[in-house]
Amino acid sequence: MSNGRGFDADVILSGGGLVGQTLALALDQAGLSVAVIDASKPAETLAPAFDGRAFAIAFASYRMWRTLGLGAQLDEVAQPIEQIMVTDGKLGRGPSLLHLHFDRAEMRDTDEPLGLMLEARHVRLALDSAVKARPSINMIQPMSVSAIERDPAGASVTLADGRKLRAPLLVGTDGRRSFVRGAVGIRTIGWDYPVTAIVTTIKHERSHGAVAHEFFLPNGPFAILPLKGERSNIVWAEPRAAAEALLKMNEADFIAELRKRFGDFLGELSLEGPRFGYPLSLQLAERMIDQRVVLAGDSAHGIHPLAGQGLNLGLKDCAALAECIADGVSLGLDPGDVSILERYQRWRRFDNVTMALGMEFFDKLFSNDIKPLRAARTLGLAAVNAVGPARRFFMKYAGGGAGDLPKLLRGESLAA
Ligand SMILES: Cc1cc2nc3c(=O)[nH]c(=O)nc-3n(C[C@H](O)[C@H](O)[C@H](O)COP(=O)(O)OP(=O)(O)OC[C@H]3O[C@@H](n4cnc5c(N)ncnc54)[C@H](O)[C@@H]3O)c2cc1C
Repeated sequence: MSNGRGFDADVILSGGGLVGQTLALALDQAGLSVAVIDASKPAETLAPAFDGRAFAIAFASYRMWRTLGLGAQLDEVAQPIEQIMVTDGKLGRGPSLLHLHFDRAEMRDTDEPLGLMLEARHVRLALDSAVKARPSINMIQPMSVSAIERDPAGASVTLADGRKLRAPLLVGTDGRRSFVRGAVGIRTIGWDYPVTAIVTTIKHERSHGAVAHEFFLPNGPFAILPLKGERSNIVWAEPRAAAEALLKMNEADFIAELRKRFGDFLGELSLEGPRFGYPLSLQLAERMIDQRVVLAGDSAHGIHPLAGQGLNLGLKDCAALAECIADGVSLGLDPGDVSILERYQRWRRFDNVTMALGMEFFDKLFSNDIKPLRAARTLGLAAVNAVGPARRFFMKYAGGGAGDLPKLLRGESLAA
């Protein structure tokens, strides 16, 4: 691919995961040519057992995927979230009386759900087929970026097979251990949490009623997230050693441990698939831009999954970056012009840092069993629950509808 100015594409993406592929589709919709280099093997990443996660997707993020043409594949498999129940739980007791309850029925100005649950395997397949259907997206996979050079006019990447590609802009969508971020010298702040999130899918006897539950247990959050059918995805944080033991345990013992947290409100439980372990950490890039380079998704911000916001932040990055580039190009700028990159950073940095630190605050507040703190936080939950406008504000935020939304998150196309 050549765009006639000595470049191989308008934009090169290093990393074609969930964020990279979404960004490629958004840029393609805006009329730009894109080369996406991804190190993973599709035969592995598209296999059903590759990634046991299911993502809580804010409705605004989902609008973007629909606008990019994924609705036909995702609508059938997406489970709407009608209610969210946040409880300062005690082991085995189920939800306490002091909780926070969000119900979509209260949002009078919209008929959209609070969010949708989507299994990672479905999202990966939908993105892969949408990207393959776009001739101006050059997906190079499996292949890694192994070197980067920049000058005032553009960025060049060297691939593992020795090939070189050049574009006015390089985007690092290459995840938490971003090669691009390191190569251009953007430092990170952050730390490891001493916990691993256990993720698995369970089948249960009774209907979940489209309710997502988040229990704050002393060792960390425990979430029951509704999927299509009588099924739920579990995200269960435990200290590393305990999590290792739970991951290795036989199924009957694991279910017995699960029951202690779960109670019996969903009836009989069984495992539907394997158990996965994700060690948790916080990682924030000190800035999102550099000469001819930007970061988007986990390369810029890897946060605690307790409120299911990491991918949502990455999708907001995609919507904002694609819009900044489209607006800049329509004014005659090239896609890597510094004014485009600075607008993107201004738009996204505050939201990303606020969310990362907010998750940090919640984790510290809830992951302990200190009595006065427990009392304060349960009262805090009850207080927010008692005030309708406060509850509605949180619901709007969870749905991704708060703040200055880029066009794609409002469901508007970037096509000229
Ligand atoms: C347990 C858990 C539950 C979660 N639940 C939610 C949720 O409910 N809702 C939500 O919004 N978020 C959730 N998240 C967060 C979400 O999973 C991440 O934010 C999201 O997957 C980040 O996507 P990404 O594309 O930025 O990075 P990644 O998915 O890490 O993709 C990076 C890609 O870059 C490629 N790559 C890396 N290095 C190179 C290189 N040198 N050259 C070429 N390619 C390269 C990799 O192959 C990979 O495909 C959860 C996270 C965890 C751990």
